[in-house]
Amino acid sequence: MSDSIIVIENLTKEYKGKGKQCVHAVKNVSLTVEKGDVFGILGASGAGKSTLLKCVNLLEKPTSGRVLLNGVSLSDLSEKELNLQRRKIGMIFQHFNLFSQCSVCENVAFPLKIAGVSRKEAKRRALVQLGYAGLADKADCYPSELSGGQKQRAAIARALVNEPEILLCDEATSALDSVTSLNILNLLKKINAELGLTILLITHELGVVKHICNKVAVMEDGRIAEQGTAAEILSNPSSDAAKKLVLSGGVK
Ligand code: ADP
Repeated sequence: MSDSIIVIENLTKEYKGKGKQCVHAVKNVSLTVEKGDVFGILGASGAGKSTLLKCVNLLEKPTSGRVLLNGVSLSDLSEKELNLQRRKIGMIFQHFNLFSQCSVCENVAFPLKIAGVSRKEAKRRALVQLGYAGLADKADCYPSELSGGQKQRAAIARALVNEPEILLCDEATSALDSVTSLNILNLLKKINAELGLTILLITHELGVVKHICNKVAVMEDGRIAEQGTAAEILSNPSSDAAKKLVLSGGVK
C-alpha cells in the first residue's frame, strides 16, 4: 500500500495575459509524493516547475485539477483551514526571502508569531532550530551580515520552526557556489533522514537530483515528460526531455 503525502491530480495552470494571450504554464500534471521521499522536479527554465510548486501550497490557485495533502483536497478548504494545513508545509527559496530589518532569530521566530505563540516560547524554539541548522552563533545578526549559505541555513531554520511534514524547495541552491550548495544539500539530506521530512524540490541542476533525490519527475513545456526513481531515470532516461538533461549533465 502506498503512503502518499502529496497527490497532484490533473493540475493545469493558465496565466491570462494581456488581450487574448494565455500562458499554459502547467499542463495536466499528475504525480504522487510518498512520505519520506526526496522528490525532485527537474527541468529547464520556463518548464513550469516554479508554477507547479507554488500550486502545491496554493500560493498559486490551479486553473483546474487538485492537490491532496494527506488525502485532504486543499482547494476545498476555507481560508482558515487552508492556513492550518499550510503549517504542515515549510518552504525555502532561491533568494532566501529573509526580512532584512529583522535579526536572524526574529526571522526564524516569525511563523510562530503568526501562529500566536508567545514571544519567549517562539525565541526558544527559534534558537533550537538555529542550532540544528548550524547557525546558533548568528542568532542576533542581521541577514546582511550573513553569507549566502548562512542565509539559506536561516531560511531552513525558519521553514522548520513550525515542525512541518513537508519541505518545498524552490531552487534552494541555485544562488550558491558549488561547495556551499553541497553543504546545504547535505543539511537537507540530514533533515530528511533524521526528522523524516518529505522534501519536494525543483531544480534545473542534475547534480542536485543525483545528490539527494530518490524520485524525480522531468518537466518540459508544462508537462511531465517522465517520472520514476532517480536511479532509473539517471541511468536509463527514456523521454527525449530526460535524455537531453541527463546527457548534457543538466542545464545551467
Ligand atoms: P520554471 O520554474 O520551470 O522556470 P515557471 O513556472 O516560472 O517555469 O514558468 C512557466 C511559464 O509560465 C513561463 O512561460 C513563464 O513565463 C510563465 N509564467 C510564470 N509565472 C507567470 C505569471 N505570474 N504570469 C504570467 N506568466 C507566468
